[in-house]
Amino acid sequence: MALIVQKYGGTSVGTIARIRTVAERVAKFKMMGHQVVVVLSAMSGETNRLIALAKEIQADPDPRELDVLISTGEQVTIALLTMALKDLGLKAKSYTGAQVRIVTDDAHTKARILSIDEANLRADLDSGHCVVVAGFQGVDENGNITTLGRGGSDTTGVALAAALKADECQIYTDVDGVYTTDPRVVPEARKLDTITFEEMLELASLGSKVLQIRSVEFAGKYKVKLRVLSSFEDSGEGTLITFEEDSMEQPIISGIAFNRDEAKCTLLGVPDKPGVAGLILGAIADANIDVDMIVQNVGHDGTTDFSFSVHRNEFAKAMAVLDGVKAEIGARATSGNDKIAKVSIVGIGMRTHAGVASRMFKALAAENINIQMISTSEIKISVVVEDKYMELAVRTLHHAFELDQAT
Ligand code: ASP
Ligand code: MG
Repeated sequence: MALIVQKYGGTSVGTIARIRTVAERVAKFKMMGHQVVVVLSAMSGETNRLIALAKEIQADPDPRELDVLISTGEQVTIALLTMALKDLGLKAKSYTGAQVRIVTDDAHTKARILSIDEANLRADLDSGHCVVVAGFQGVDENGNITTLGRGGSDTTGVALAAALKADECQIYTDVDGVYTTDPRVVPEARKLDTITFEEMLELASLGSKVLQIRSVEFAGKYKVKLRVLSSFEDSGEGTLITFEEDSMEQPIISGIAFNRDEAKCTLLGVPDKPGVAGLILGAIADANIDVDMIVQNVGHDGTTDFSFSVHRNEFAKAMAVLDGVKAEIGARATSGNDKIAKVSIVGIGMRTHAGVASRMFKALAAENINIQMISTSEIKISVVVEDKYMELAVRTLHHAFELDQAT
């Protein structure tokens, strides 16, 4: 007998019929003799709908009240699923975050979990109940309802699995696992049987939307066995997130991520002297803008061109800051480009293989794709390319690293 936490996303509980399908799967696990804790998202589209309602009243909704509002989506689905489970003859009980006592800090709309009181849940499980918990929500020490950030039900699932020392945390979603890249861009993309936590973290931070990044961090920290599966097909084992020391042979590259969320800002003709980089990025940081990549080219005339990328939403703000900096340090001009995309290859095999970067750059060159910026970490290489070449770049790299071939 195992204790399993199953988290179902919005599309999996998007209709009554789908809620019944979830109930049937839960029943199947119960019949096998397992204890099951279910964590649910709101019906798909519901959280967005509630946020839009709030914005009709306040452009920048009051955070405490916004949490009271958007936490209701999950309260609907837990009650409905619990009814469906009872309808199948199972013992079941729903819990909101506050009823469990999932205690968080008071950072409304992006709260962090501080503690979970699992005693009631465990008593219910021991008396044969299925326990159904609202994802995405908690309560602060003063009893205010909080939410954990968009996609936060994943984190609720993993946190409950950690608190209950569950044997496995299963994340049911509308894809049947983690893929080498988005199959909508590369039809040959393959589902991975396993991927390491570190790779999953990189992919999540680079824009892969399969798991909320905080849930991956949490699972890594508390050694929760985490698996991503489809709630629509009974198609096998999904993708297991593993620990590096447990994984067998590693491919050099596990996945390719991409996004169009960034924009590039450049200051041209910057005097080449100590302190200018600190000055430029200091001004950007003072405006509360996060910088991703940075490139500096030293010219022959004693000046440099200094480029960095920011989130596209902050592009206009960053350019305005740069204009101020330009005057202050006597740079020649500013220029900006929000028609860029970032493409990244991720794999822990990079640590032990030389030549990965050159293989990447040669493959892009063969397609005449110009690289505008580069950044690397131990297990990742990212490049910025012109927006319109993004999909070509992803397909090219997928092929160049033989990700379409079964390992
Ligand atoms: N319902 C929340 C959202 O849409 C939380 C979740 O689905 O994970 O972000
Ligand atoms: Mg999600």
